[in-house]
Amino acid sequence: MQKFIIMGAQGCGKGTQSRLLSAQLDLAHICVGDILRWNIQSRTKLAARIRRVVDAGELVPDEIVEQIVQERLEQHDWNFGFILDGFPRNTEQAEFFLESYDVDAVIHIQVTDELVIERVLSRRICPECILDYNLIHHRPEVENTCDVCGTELIVRADDDEETVRTRLSEYRLRTEPILGLFERKELVFTVDGSKSIQDVFTDILEAAESAGSQV
Ligand code: AMP
Repeated sequence: MQKFIIMGAQGCGKGTQSRLLSAQLDLAHICVGDILRWNIQSRTKLAARIRRVVDAGELVPDEIVEQIVQERLEQHDWNFGFILDGFPRNTEQAEFFLESYDVDAVIHIQVTDELVIERVLSRRICPECILDYNLIHHRPEVENTCDVCGTELIVRADDDEETVRTRLSEYRLRTEPILGLFERKELVFTVDGSKSIQDVFTDILEAAESAGSQV
């Protein structure tokens, strides 16, 4: 069994890379942002409490995301392991997680602020299958239309420039420092997120293999 956390600023490619890695190693892909967006779209009880926060690019209160992650992990549908995408995002969440679970590696995808802004502003998503596209690197075959289900693509509500800058500063201020906590445990593998999707994936697979050989 292999357990990974994937970290990086928004637009670094952690969603894409998590999907590739989960398919390759048969891992459960647990994406907290997708679960939050699903709640908003499905107008669950939680939606009213989180919509404004997510749309503003701020962090949802710890007790909400911690409960989401705990309930998700307690489903135990991850026989071969999991990849946790978008959690933990601050020291409190990291400590909460480490009270009950351990990880084999923290994959850190490094990107510059300029690249984040360029990528996020060109991101489009399919509201049906939650696939994401990019007008620069991964254009849909038919303009503005999902290749898989034909639904019209949309811009994520939190992908405007002001919100991107808020999320980026939240990331640099609150999320990046937790790398130190994992570095002390020698769990962090940093890869260069400016490379192509395939090259980043090759580097991640190498990191996953070397983490596997250390356990
Ligand atoms: P993401 O899809 O990972 O970019 O997350 C989108 C938004 O969901 C973030 O900007 C936050 O508002 C919220 N979010 C996702 N994960 C967390 C988390 N671990 N803690 C707090 N808020 C989160």
